[in-house]
Amino acid sequence: MKTVVKMLAASLVAGSAFSVAAVMAQDYPTQPVTIVVPFSAGGPTDTVTRLVAAAMSEDLGQQVVVQNVGGAGGTLGAGQVAAAANDGYTLLLHHIGMSTAPALYASLPYDPMTDFAPIGLVTEVPMTMVARKDFEPATLEDLIAYVKENGENVTYANAGIGAASQLCGLLFQDALETKLTEVPYQGTGPAMTDLLGGQIDMMCDQTTNTTSQIQAGEIKAYAVTTPERIAVLPDVPTMAEGGVENFNLSIWHGLYAPAGTDPAIVERLTQALQAALADETVGNSFAELGTYPVPASEATPEALAEKLEGQTALWAEVIAAAGVSAQ
Ligand code: ASP
Repeated sequence: MKTVVKMLAASLVAGSAFSVAAVMAQDYPTQPVTIVVPFSAGGPTDTVTRLVAAAMSEDLGQQVVVQNVGGAGGTLGAGQVAAAANDGYTLLLHHIGMSTAPALYASLPYDPMTDFAPIGLVTEVPMTMVARKDFEPATLEDLIAYVKENGENVTYANAGIGAASQLCGLLFQDALETKLTEVPYQGTGPAMTDLLGGQIDMMCDQTTNTTSQIQAGEIKAYAVTTPERIAVLPDVPTMAEGGVENFNLSIWHGLYAPAGTDPAIVERLTQALQAALADETVGNSFAELGTYPVPASEATPEALAEKLEGQTALWAEVIAAAGVSAQ
């Protein structure tokens, strides 16, 4: 008898917990939503996130706040969201680093595949190989010769191990069989400040951080990392044009909630993301920065999960082939 009473009490508690969750999902969001950017403010991931967050906030009818948690190539911020409450109020906007970190770190404080509930893909961004304005090489061919000759005397900024800038530098050094002096930052926003100030020689970063500085002649651009030249930077050659073959790198961004988030909340967030990506201001701002929002068919949990899985396998192979050992 006692057991039956206990079971009844337990099911009543479970029932009320269930209905509370259902009501929460229905009313969601009732308070501001935070999107963690795992890099410093002012960088490309931050720029993309702030544009998307402003538009999502209109759709959700709640403030969407951006929080920068830079460090350790994006793994600190990602780890923070993996450990956050799965109530839909703490999200992560991260890039390709979600798929490269498992191959670059011997141990990660989270599992990108199981500790997150994907919401949708956001955008795919080309990268650019850039340098301080007065860096000696004039063309991509000159840069290649200069880097081969000067190796570790050349300083190269990145946003830590697992960051897109680090990945691009890794592929570049591997292709040229040379070694540069890598200088890590918490994001490429502050790295750009040092590039503009001439304290660092080179960087490879998303067009979302470099386009306006290249157009203004404030930094030198040697190459884009995509197979084709891009519309906003028509004079910048591809890596292949300079003889660096098979260099194809574009940086995809995805939006995630912690694993176990109510599917109804994830669905609502996917809807808000799709609305944000269809927003004209977002589309125009992205275009000016050399990128575009993904179509609604890709701003889905399924598309992001598939991308993450495919890219994790791909980069594990590339990173192993480049002979990079886990940190
Ligand atoms: N672009 C940076 C990277 O190297 C990150 C950032 O600051 O957004 O991954």
